[in-house]
Amino acid sequence: MGLFEKFYPDEYIRSTYDIDFEALYKDGYRGVIFDVDNTLVPHDAPADDRAKALFKKLHDLGFNALLLSNNKEPRVKKFAEDVKYASYIYKANKPARSGYYAAMDKMGTDKETTLFVGDQLFTDVWGAHRSGIRNILVHPINPKEEIQIVLKRRLEAIVLKRYFKRNSGQK
Ligand SMILES: [Mg+2]
Repeated sequence: MGLFEKFYPDEYIRSTYDIDFEALYKDGYRGVIFDVDNTLVPHDAPADDRAKALFKKLHDLGFNALLLSNNKEPRVKKFAEDVKYASYIYKANKPARSGYYAAMDKMGTDKETTLFVGDQLFTDVWGAHRSGIRNILVHPINPKEEIQIVLKRRLEAIVLKRYFKRNSGQK
């Protein structure tokens, strides 16, 4: 196993809103864990119509949905209330496994029936990988980010470059 493979996502999709959840439901998935900031909306932005429509759609399809965020309770709770069809865990301390396990407990799903969607390799994807959950990396929504995130993105870029290089020619 290469140095960076634990950070590789199972799949990369440009946007959360391009994910084919109908197909995933048919494949047997029943729970979706989402990162919030830059995965569903820009950092600290409120739930918009697109996000609300996604959670309604997931609910109608039969999915359980949960927001797993390292952000604080007021932020995550308000977002969950606004999108209606999602439970939440705040200050999740990703990449720690505990939040991912708690999320599956809350949804009544397991590693085989749960998906994770997030925008950061060293928290979101690594945590899902360690927890044995299939994960999808999406491109961060907000181009303007805080300096510590910008620095992490530079490290992510190094890993992603190798990831895409390995994957090129597969399709
Ligand atoms: Mg994020």
